[in-house]
Amino acid sequence: MAGEKETLGISSQQSVHDGGDDYGSDRLARLEAMAKSQTAVLRKSFVSKMKEKDDLIMDMLKTFKRLQVLEPIQAFASRNSRIGNWIGLATGETVEIGGNATDEEVQSLRKERNDLRDMVKDLKSAMDSKGGDGAIKMKLKEYKKDVKKLEKEKSKLLAALQQAQGGEGGGGDGAETAKLMLQVEKLKKKLEKAEKKSGKEGRGLSPPPPGAPPSGPPSGPPGPPPAAAPPVDDGKVKHLEEENAKLTKKLEESKAKYEKARGKLEEVGKASLKGQEEILASMASEMEKLEVSSKKEIDEAKNEIDAAKKETAGKDAEVKKLAENVKALMKSNEALKSSNSGLNSALRQLAKKSGALASEFSQLKSQVLASMKTDVPKIAKSTASQIAAASSNFMKSIEDLKINYEKEVKERKRLFNLVQELRGNIRVFARCRPPSKKELSSGDEQAAICVEFPKEGEVNMKNEKGKEKNWEFDQVFNTGSTQEQVYKEVSPLVTSVLDGFNVCIFAYGQTGTGKTFTMMGPESNRGVNTRALYELFDISQKRRSTIEDKITVSVLEVYNEQIKDLLAEDVGERKYTVREGPHGNYVPDLTMVNVDSLDEVIELLALADLNRSTAKTNMNEHSSRSHLILSCYIVSTNKHSGEVSRGKLHLIDLAGSERVGKSGAKGQALKEAQNINKSLSALGDVIAARGSGSSHIPFRNSTLTQLLQDSLSADSKTLMFVCISPVMYNSEEGFCSLNFAERARKVELGKATKNVVKAGKS
Ligand code: ADP
Ligand code: MG
Repeated sequence: MAGEKETLGISSQQSVHDGGDDYGSDRLARLEAMAKSQTAVLRKSFVSKMKEKDDLIMDMLKTFKRLQVLEPIQAFASRNSRIGNWIGLATGETVEIGGNATDEEVQSLRKERNDLRDMVKDLKSAMDSKGGDGAIKMKLKEYKKDVKKLEKEKSKLLAALQQAQGGEGGGGDGAETAKLMLQVEKLKKKLEKAEKKSGKEGRGLSPPPPGAPPSGPPSGPPGPPPAAAPPVDDGKVKHLEEENAKLTKKLEESKAKYEKARGKLEEVGKASLKGQEEILASMASEMEKLEVSSKKEIDEAKNEIDAAKKETAGKDAEVKKLAENVKALMKSNEALKSSNSGLNSALRQLAKKSGALASEFSQLKSQVLASMKTDVPKIAKSTASQIAAASSNFMKSIEDLKINYEKEVKERKRLFNLVQELRGNIRVFARCRPPSKKELSSGDEQAAICVEFPKEGEVNMKNEKGKEKNWEFDQVFNTGSTQEQVYKEVSPLVTSVLDGFNVCIFAYGQTGTGKTFTMMGPESNRGVNTRALYELFDISQKRRSTIEDKITVSVLEVYNEQIKDLLAEDVGERKYTVREGPHGNYVPDLTMVNVDSLDEVIELLALADLNRSTAKTNMNEHSSRSHLILSCYIVSTNKHSGEVSRGKLHLIDLAGSERVGKSGAKGQALKEAQNINKSLSALGDVIAARGSGSSHIPFRNSTLTQLLQDSLSADSKTLMFVCISPVMYNSEEGFCSLNFAERARKVELGKATKNVVKAGKS
């Protein structure tokens, strides 16, 4: 709880940056780093620009200094510390340039620029007032005035001199001469002064270049002091003339110096003006450039600042949201805390109760343990015996149930059979042969098992197209069924022949599905035929004290619609036809053999088989294309009542039901196939007609249906074995066979009746 309190006690801002929201803090940190780096870049470029500008101004100031026009900007410097610094730098002091490139800096830069402009203006006016062209002209004017004045005075002096020369005869005037001398002295001084002044002005504006001749007053020794007023004589005149010549020479020299100084002054003035203009122009353009680039940088910086502001605004919103979340969490935490305290008190109460319960429980436990030691064995014993009794009762009731169930099933079957019998339905038994060794080992998808047996009496098949169907028949024998199991179901039907019923059992199906195996079966594993005859003989034998049975057999084959008597001595030479007789259809002249035992029947069957095989080279192929009919005729006479009953049993192994198209038969084979088809389709038509209750049943359409007419009419019990293959590549034929059998099962032949003739009648 303390930890939670601390976590929730921090401010929302902290919680965000300290990891409350990693995503937000990361973004903010990145933003800050970006802003810092951009500021550093800006600062660097700003500093270099400043340096450039400073260098330029330094150059300018140095030039000013060289031209000795620095004074006018001294006053300006006091207005701007930075420029003061530059001036200091220009005069040899160190200055620090740099700092933060902030808005203030930019503002100060702008101010500096304006100040510099002012300075330039001031400088210009200073130049105009001090070193400008007008000032020089004025000076020149003054000089000219002075020179004129001097010339005037000189001419006056010359005139006085001439006068003095002309009045020489009139005797010399000493006072006048002295006056003149004084005037000459004055003039000399004035000239010296003017020269001095002229030299000074020249120096003041532009110092003489090194090596230039000095422009001050002559450096030579001053002239000899004026002698005391000499007497006015030739000597004096000569002296005055000499003096005059000297003065004139000095004047000339002074003029020349003046001209030279004036020339230099003009030169210097022009040069300095040009230099200043150039500097000013370059300064102005630099300032423009600087202004443009500064503006650009300022704009960029502003944009970046705006973007950063926006981002910060987003972050602020996030932070606000998070702060709200934290607030809400704190609130819920408070609520939890209060509910927790409630829970705690409830818990304490519960703990109290639990303690009480625990002690109660331990008491009960010890009580139970005590009672367990004594009571449990007793209880266990009695319970065990009760359970054993209940269990045996239960088992018994289960057993009873089972017996009852079986009874019920049997009863149901009996009743069903009874109904079937009463209706005279064709019974249908399905039998599926096991897969052959070849099929089992093939591993081919086509050899896969496609048949299932979901319930008793049901068969399910899938075809190659994935279609699946379920059929229900009276009996279904799976791949593991034995000949014995099959016969067991057939037996009641077979034995009814001995009571005077007509019974027909035929096997229908594609070649190779086990028709012959089911009907005849191998010697070691006999099928329905021999088992039926065995039973008939067996029953006959057992009842012979009361009933005398006369059993006759015939074996014939229907091949290409022709009947062949397989027991005749001249097999294949005679033609047989089916006729209607008083006891149903029959084949005149067919070999009928009386038999008294099974062995005799087996011999006859062997003979039939022999007759069949001697006529044909390919037995398998032949047998699949012909129908084999073993018929048993039983005439039973009751020795006491003299009652005679006639029963007929047809055991038929039909030809293969596969279609012509699939077998790809040609020529003779095609004819055979067509005939098989004819007889089997005729069989189908008869079954269909019977199923629909039609008055006309087309028995006469084939030899086979003609022969089976009795068995497919009333008074007959008919059973059909539908034989199927369990593997996928036969599934299509399997579907056809099973559908045919399904239709056959619906046929109601009507109640079968015994063929019994009272004694004395035939
Ligand atoms: P069909 O007469 O219909 O042409 P077969 O009776 O000749 O077919 O049987 C084809 C093969 O399958 C024979 O080799 C036969 O032994 C075997 N066969 C058929 N049915 C079974 C069965 N239920 N158990 C064992 N083998 C069988
Ligand atoms: Mg066969």
